[in-house]
Amino acid sequence: MAGKVCIMSEILKLVKKHEKYRSESLNMQASENIMSPNAREALSSDLASRYSLVLDPSQGDAYGGARYTDEILHETERLAASLYGSKFAEVRPLGGHIAAEMVILSLMRKRENMMSIAEKDGGYTGYQSGYLPQMFGFQNYEIPYDGESQEIDLQKLERAMKASSPSLVLLGQSFFLKHYDLKPLREMCDAYNSYLAYDGSHVMGLIAGKAFQKDALEYCDLLFGSTHKSFFGPQGGIILTNNEDIFSRIRKNITWRTMDNYHPSRIAALGVALEEMTEYGRDYAASVVRNSVHLGKELHSSGVGVKFSPWYSETHQVALDINYFRSRGMSFQSASQMLEDSGIIIDREGRIGTSEISRMGFSDMGRIAELISTALSGKNVRQEVSDLIKELRIHYTGA
Ligand SMILES: *Cc1c(COP(=O)(O)O)cnc(C)c1O
Repeated sequence: MAGKVCIMSEILKLVKKHEKYRSESLNMQASENIMSPNAREALSSDLASRYSLVLDPSQGDAYGGARYTDEILHETERLAASLYGSKFAEVRPLGGHIAAEMVILSLMRKRENMMSIAEKDGGYTGYQSGYLPQMFGFQNYEIPYDGESQEIDLQKLERAMKASSPSLVLLGQSFFLKHYDLKPLREMCDAYNSYLAYDGSHVMGLIAGKAFQKDALEYCDLLFGSTHKSFFGPQGGIILTNNEDIFSRIRKNITWRTMDNYHPSRIAALGVALEEMTEYGRDYAASVVRNSVHLGKELHSSGVGVKFSPWYSETHQVALDINYFRSRGMSFQSASQMLEDSGIIIDREGRIGTSEISRMGFSDMGRIAELISTALSGKNVRQEVSDLIKELRIHYTGA
């Protein structure tokens, strides 16, 4: 017994170290966000170790003690559908990737073709040939994309669709800066009898707040993605559609196919986040996009290499220019490490994210750009970063 307690407390010590470390850092990682105290309370509640399973509502729950769990699930589904303006919402997927599996398995049959944006153009690695397509027996083709303008090449796409007759055209990127012109894509998918799906993993919070790709569900058969990147967390996935047939196929592919239990505490935390997004999403999302554009401009004027001047970004991401770093003997990896030594956290792939700083109510991008450029010039700015962090408070929670 004593040994076990000891092991647990060692892990808890590491958890505390992590929390201290991250609370002393400025998080600008594009794939992350911070959860409100209310959402965290739900996530670590008693629900975290409970079961609930309703397959046929006339039979009730397969588990006892679930009288509130079902209510939480259904209320969370209702909140999601209402926030995104969709007829149907599925909130149980354990992550964006699991949601993608459910979508692909529900819309395609073996040996059919799909199209997605290539990794070199910012597309999601999971859709590249060696991953989901190989595992499920589909063929994936590239959606032709112009990296300079960050736009799909519609003429080339038309030819590629003619050649490969894809059952599914899957939009969405991990390096995601610009909205798509969906109307012509919908027309092409209708002409070639393809489903059009939108992986909004990175931008679900911005779509919810109507600051980006407001027409996703107007033109696409479904919208799905992660709930923790520009959305308010917790980590998980969500699928939205107006199509009843698609929705029932997705539901069928959940329990005992792509997953079993759905982590009820996670659903409760998502429900809290959906309430917050419903109340404050528009203000939040507008400030995220505004901050990205300003950060792009300010980095550019402080001499740091950023891409896509003069528009920079329509999302929560700003893209760094690898040529700038190479010319100074740096890589994205070493630049990220250098910033982290100064207390600024970004990923190691050249993205800077503005979701979390926006949620923390910050809007002085000139100050952040200055800190980044000073840190990259080799001077440690940890003290200045600490001073800035002291001014931050979580916003958009109501709590
Ligand atoms: C992050 C990401 C995913 C995977 O999401 P998880 O929630 O980590 O499973 C899927 N698609 C895209 C475009 C992503 O950026």
